[in-house]
Amino acid sequence: MKVLYVSSEVVPFAKTGGLADVAGSLVPELQAQGADVSLFMPFYSAARRTVHNLEDTGARFQVTMGNDVVNGAVYKTRLPETKVPVFLLDAPELYGREELYTSDGVPYPDNAMRFIFFSRAVLEFIIANGLNVDVVHVNDWQSALVPVYLKTLYADRAELSGVRSILTIHNLSYQGLFWHFDMDLTGLDWSLFHWKRLEFYGKINFLKGGIVYADAVTTVSKRYAREIQTEELGCGLEGVLLERADDLTGILNGVDYTEWNPGTDKFTAANYSAGDLGGKVICKADLQRRLGLDEDANIPILGMITRLVEQKGVDLVADIFPKLMAMGVQLVILGSGEENYELQLRELAEEYPKQAAAVIAYDNALAHQIEAGADFFLMPSRFEPCGLNQMYSLKYGTIPIVRSTGGLADTVVHATPASLHRGRANGFVFNKATPNALLGCIKNAVQMFRENRTAYNGLQAGGMKQDFSWSRSAESYMSLYRKTSRQELKPV
Ligand code: ADP
Repeated sequence: MKVLYVSSEVVPFAKTGGLADVAGSLVPELQAQGADVSLFMPFYSAARRTVHNLEDTGARFQVTMGNDVVNGAVYKTRLPETKVPVFLLDAPELYGREELYTSDGVPYPDNAMRFIFFSRAVLEFIIANGLNVDVVHVNDWQSALVPVYLKTLYADRAELSGVRSILTIHNLSYQGLFWHFDMDLTGLDWSLFHWKRLEFYGKINFLKGGIVYADAVTTVSKRYAREIQTEELGCGLEGVLLERADDLTGILNGVDYTEWNPGTDKFTAANYSAGDLGGKVICKADLQRRLGLDEDANIPILGMITRLVEQKGVDLVADIFPKLMAMGVQLVILGSGEENYELQLRELAEEYPKQAAAVIAYDNALAHQIEAGADFFLMPSRFEPCGLNQMYSLKYGTIPIVRSTGGLADTVVHATPASLHRGRANGFVFNKATPNALLGCIKNAVQMFRENRTAYNGLQAGGMKQDFSWSRSAESYMSLYRKTSRQELKPV
């Protein structure tokens, strides 16, 4: 099975979000399971500093885009500590920049051109290099035009006749919307600027194109796969997704347990395991000391690590902040993002210096220390395609308190007498995205911590035993690759 995995970001070369982690961790696992898989990404300035042992593949091509002709070259390196080949698309005028998609928070004005070229370059490269690819696996809007090109502009290319395409959606709220005149840059016929194809409320929508044209579509949890077919979470694309329902599946992301493992974590004050939680007590005291909180093992700590955006339900936590303080818990928030949330959380925390800490930063070491030191972890997300922190929390014996949505709903089982009795419970789940629902759920969780330590320890033990490693996800992708590559090209 020969697979080209196309991603606009890959750890450790370039990262703005979860897609980079997925690409960097899933692809080596696919290789371990027997796929002949390579990565394809733009050669950004950031990647230039990280890449060693660069080889020239010799592939050169030109693409006409409107009045411009863009030249591409492809270089090759390997994903560090693996044998996975990484193909880097070089076009300095498009990718030779410090940031991936924005400058000072504003999208680059030529993003349409950058990612139209990226998508076409994937196919030009397969042709130029004679790669006999079975499946081209594209991700998010940045490469979503690849399936469109395969069935339109490049449909007659014999070198591509055996290639099937799979699109994975990591977050439906980012769609790659551009003004209609960029149709001229795509080289596609204007007849595709149609509501059944690429058009979306007068604009071009790259992700929509991918959904319509890909042979199979996946997203990062089963629940999210269902949710995006509804008006509530479909971001306007529920109609096209419903039409593809038979070819749409959810495959949960995995966790990199070499990095997130309380038994070997290098950032924490102590290590521990399900069999011996002594180290977790040390980590809790260390976290309290580090953040200037009262050092007391009996006070429950609620942790939260997140981008500070509406999606994550940060406003719900801010809303109940004083009530949480009145409950006598400690609250530790690590995050960065929208300025209004940053200011609000900082101000709230400053009112309760011994009980609350809001660290406005991106700090990986502190993220590990919070996972290890907290008793509970808050994820009151409005939507969550997969979510990683709840899975880290489970491994660290830190009980997740989550909203019932997306990957959170697929991984966290609410503690009820029945689920506890069956040994299936691993956390606390609430339904409505309201401050009261969150508060009520936290009250139940804290009550268990204070009054029923046996049940609380049972939750910890259950969660720590669970396995959300990449091998399971990779198996699901492998079987999808086999199924899709055997199928005839899906007509549009
Ligand atoms: P999303 O991809 O929507 O941001 P996920 O839960 O899937 O949410 O992944 C977020 C990842 O980013 C986690 O690994 C989390 O620990 C990390 N993270 C988010 N914010 C911070 C921060 N301020 N400091 C350190 N790590 C962070």
